[in-house]
Amino acid sequence: MNPLVNLNGKRGLVVGIANEQSIATGCTQAFRQAGARIGATYLNDKARPFVEPVTDRLGVEWIEPCDVQEAGALESLFAKIEREWGGLDFLLHSIAFAPKEDLHGRLVDSSANGFAKAMDISCHSFLRMARFAEPLMPNGGSLMCVTFYGSERVVDHYNLMGPVKAALESATRYLAAELGAKDIRANAISPGPIATRAAGGLDQFDRILAQAAEQAPEKEPISITDVGALAAFLASDAARRITGTIIPVDAGQHIIA
Ligand code: NAD
Repeated sequence: MNPLVNLNGKRGLVVGIANEQSIATGCTQAFRQAGARIGATYLNDKARPFVEPVTDRLGVEWIEPCDVQEAGALESLFAKIEREWGGLDFLLHSIAFAPKEDLHGRLVDSSANGFAKAMDISCHSFLRMARFAEPLMPNGGSLMCVTFYGSERVVDHYNLMGPVKAALESATRYLAAELGAKDIRANAISPGPIATRAAGGLDQFDRILAQAAEQAPEKEPISITDVGALAAFLASDAARRITGTIIPVDAGQHIIA
């Protein structure tokens, strides 16, 4: 059991486990250690064999397919939650996507379609999840997403994802404002770079990783366990007055000019 945070009896949805390295995996581990019940998603049949061993190991109660761009996928996911649990206490949106040709080029050259797809999967899907979660959270809840510092400052090779993450952070603040009266909180977790499958899609990610470890005051790389600790706290009642925030877990890198 995680001695710092108590999620006993809480029901959480995790979207974004691809494999053992995923940030969503570190968060699920922390949620489970704190006593939460978890339902999780996998992208599609191809992804399932990589996700299922992780969710089995972590004692996830059920898994459902969910490609947020597929018509009806979120509707059937939230219908499942209502059937299984009759409500929801927290959700973690830990997904992002940008077409390779747009991600690897200059932002100024990005295609309208590529930009729209990145925005839909990486940002608007968080709003859609919040909309479906709202009626399932009559006593309040916690909505979390995962962002990156490249939203605020220009990080070499982050390109198209910079403005997409800026939109996600702004969306988090508006969600917090719109849902606050219902005690539904929205926060974004902003980890330093971690070697995951999605991060591997960035050009020269190794350089971003090395630079972070060098610049960060703590001089240490970030792990998915570090991110999980914050996610479990944000999901818990201990964070009940924390909403609309973007919280870095980056060994302090964000304070360095
Ligand atoms: P990951 O590859 O393990 O996870 C990305 C997830 O996005 C995968 O599970 C994938 O299936 C999912 N996804 C992509 N398209 C989808 C769609 N259409 N529908 C549903 N799911 C879809 O990589 P990760 O690094 O764990 O990424 C998780 C989040 O963390 C992302 O939002 C990413 O931008 C963010 N983040 C990552 C880092 C890092 O350095 N790894 C740093 C800061 C923020």
